[in-house]
Amino acid sequence: MSFAGFMDFARKDVNLLESSPTAFLKKLHSDFICKYEKDRDSYEYAMSESLRLSGIYWCLSAMDIMQELDRMNRDEIVKYVKECRREDGGYGPAEQHDSHLLHTLCAVQIAIILDRLECIDAEGIVQFVKNLQKPDGSFTGDSSNEIDTRFTFVALATLYLLGRLNEIDAQKAVEFVLKCYNSDGGFGTRPGSESHSGQVYCCVGSLCILDRLESIDRNKTAAWLAQRQCTSGGLNGRPEKLPDVCYSWWVLSSLAMLKRLHWIDEEKMKRFIYACQDSETGGFADRPEDVSDPFHTVFGIAALSLFSHPELSSVDAVFCMTKKCLGDKSLC
Ligand SMILES: [Zn+2]
Repeated sequence: MSFAGFMDFARKDVNLLESSPTAFLKKLHSDFICKYEKDRDSYEYAMSESLRLSGIYWCLSAMDIMQELDRMNRDEIVKYVKECRREDGGYGPAEQHDSHLLHTLCAVQIAIILDRLECIDAEGIVQFVKNLQKPDGSFTGDSSNEIDTRFTFVALATLYLLGRLNEIDAQKAVEFVLKCYNSDGGFGTRPGSESHSGQVYCCVGSLCILDRLESIDRNKTAAWLAQRQCTSGGLNGRPEKLPDVCYSWWVLSSLAMLKRLHWIDEEKMKRFIYACQDSETGGFADRPEDVSDPFHTVFGIAALSLFSHPELSSVDAVFCMTKKCLGDKSLC
């Protein structure tokens, strides 16, 4: 490979098209999310069973941030969440699926967004989460024993939202997170794993929940995050990867928790996020011209909300839920 070719490779990026949207298409996105509720075929297609409870959270949070929550069927959703509860106290992604930490947090988030916290089994959830902490402070997501800093964040977020953080060993949890802190300022899934934006969000979020952000070099971590911005304005997950709208959320929310959101070029960032909208069907795709889905839609909308947008409710950077629904539980 020539040097010029190598430089192109090192600066992997996407081109924004002249025809790409340049403003926020709120009405289209609201209709796009509603379609998933009404049209069961497309709903089931996009929300495969293994992701369904998470999918409901993505849709609800997107609608709440857009101030369109009244278009969702609250009773149906609460009924469905109850069906996903398992004997061990956790929640599965769908009926008949085993419980997992990720979907258990989604059940709590859904209940809070809908203001129906009494409909979930808080005591069972606390026991389920407690049982997943390992002696070194880490967490597994289920009985499979796979350890990941993602699960630490999800466990802490779940207990914090239920007001039950005192039920686990928080000091050990912090120690494990700090073992995953790398010399480049980022965090990985486990001690020694390479830095990744998603893991930085989980670890910075965990430290924020436990009020221990002073344990890291905030400038160094923010510098690693700011370097994720590509020429197109989009953010990538790690060096030499293509930008993706979901990383807009993980990187920007981490910078917001570190109080360094201004380290990103806001105008270029917004231009990239707008370009990821589908101007025909609504919704956001991972990058311009790809197919939109609810996952990238909620994170695109939430990322825009961090810059404060007139059509959007203000979002909490730790939980990706509106500050309004969190009330005094909002952290950042
Ligand atoms: Zn993505």
